[in-house]
Amino acid sequence: MLSNLATRDVETVLHPYTNLSTHRQIGPLVLERGEGVHVYDTEGRPYIEGMSGLWCTALGYSNAELVEAARAQMARLPFTHLFSGRSHDPGIELAETLKELMPVPTSKIFFTSSGSEANDTQVKLTWYYNNALGRRNKKKIIARQKGYHGVTVASASMTGLAANHADWDLPLPGFLHVSAAHHYRGAEPGESEEAYSARLAAELEETILREGPDTVAAFIAEPVMGAGGAIVPPRGYFSAIQAVLAKYEVRFIADEVICGFGRLGTWFGSEALGARPDSISFAKALTSAYMPLGGVSIDEPLYEALVGQSEKIGTFGHGTTYSGHPVAAAVALKAIEIYRRDRIIEGAAEKAPQFQRRLSALAGHDLVGEAGGIGLIGGLEIVADKATKRQYDPKTGVAARCVAFAQGEGLIVRALAGDRVAVCPPLIIAPDEIDALFDRLGRALDRTR
Ligand code: PLP
Repeated sequence: MLSNLATRDVETVLHPYTNLSTHRQIGPLVLERGEGVHVYDTEGRPYIEGMSGLWCTALGYSNAELVEAARAQMARLPFTHLFSGRSHDPGIELAETLKELMPVPTSKIFFTSSGSEANDTQVKLTWYYNNALGRRNKKKIIARQKGYHGVTVASASMTGLAANHADWDLPLPGFLHVSAAHHYRGAEPGESEEAYSARLAAELEETILREGPDTVAAFIAEPVMGAGGAIVPPRGYFSAIQAVLAKYEVRFIADEVICGFGRLGTWFGSEALGARPDSISFAKALTSAYMPLGGVSIDEPLYEALVGQSEKIGTFGHGTTYSGHPVAAAVALKAIEIYRRDRIIEGAAEKAPQFQRRLSALAGHDLVGEAGGIGLIGGLEIVADKATKRQYDPKTGVAARCVAFAQGEGLIVRALAGDRVAVCPPLIIAPDEIDALFDRLGRALDRTR
């Protein structure tokens, strides 16, 4: 029997990323408030938010300083925009701060409201830039199977997950996918991580050569794959890949929408994994998700080409009403101040060994084929047979069952394609809360058995 609120939800809300058929029977989990790393449902039941919402509430749920930053900006100037050269002080200060923080050469910051928009912007800028340079055929984008880059038409084309393509008439032509960098599933028996990385780089090179290097514009990758399974790349992956990209003048875009702002114990995931992208997409933890805000870094040659295009075309014809919303910018500035002042990112690095030790210990569970991660992110894969890595019949929905049992234990984690379960708690999680999280996840696995 659904509660009154649940019934109203089922009657009125079309839910993103939800099995709409089962939702009609089981209804929603309605959350009402949050404190620290906990959220509470309408019955007052607490849950450890082991997914930081959607990989984003890095500073947890009751940060009064973020609330005050939003309130103060709303009271002062709730909205102005960045179109036609107009500006606002939180936007300027945030761009300056991000320029300092970016681990890639950065001349300007372009703001969006979401990660999908940031990645769509990357595609459009890549095309526009190559047109400005007269490289009119150099337009194809290479992404990876299991990569996740969002849901707008270009970003969903780059996403490498079946549910984002099947019956959506995607990917668009000109978007290609190479293999995911997942050693547990993709490596040959006995193949080292380095050898596997070299093989993936060779596959990328073959793809570029087959398509024609003068037609391939960019490669996009998350430092750690998020929605595709919380998958850490094998050792040597980015250095091997980058050597190929450099050879054929293919732009490297790092999608740091999850990894940016501390998730791997460094400001950006690229720094933790030795990636040297040309540009970075970011969102989520930039504001600790208290307001929607994302963006991309723009290097000097790209910026100069954009200026040249304005001289030719008359304007830079891109941007949305809320690009760089002042309230979101004020919240982001406060979030970055807190990350710095309270050593949140160093703290994440210090807590990572305990988190990873507890996660890896789950690999001993008879349902778990792989359990691993980096920083404060991890994934585990549920298998029917550990020796052969055989998976359950997809109809059993085994990861979703595990996640439902976890919810019963007072823990929110996320089921992903491929029978994987992701864990990505707020960076402020305390050591005893890390223990409680994994105790609960262990009990959920026991019940899934
Ligand atoms: N890129 C990555 C790596 C993501 O994880 C996500 C969302 O989860 C996106 C892009 C899309 O961001 P948004 O949902 O804000 O559009």
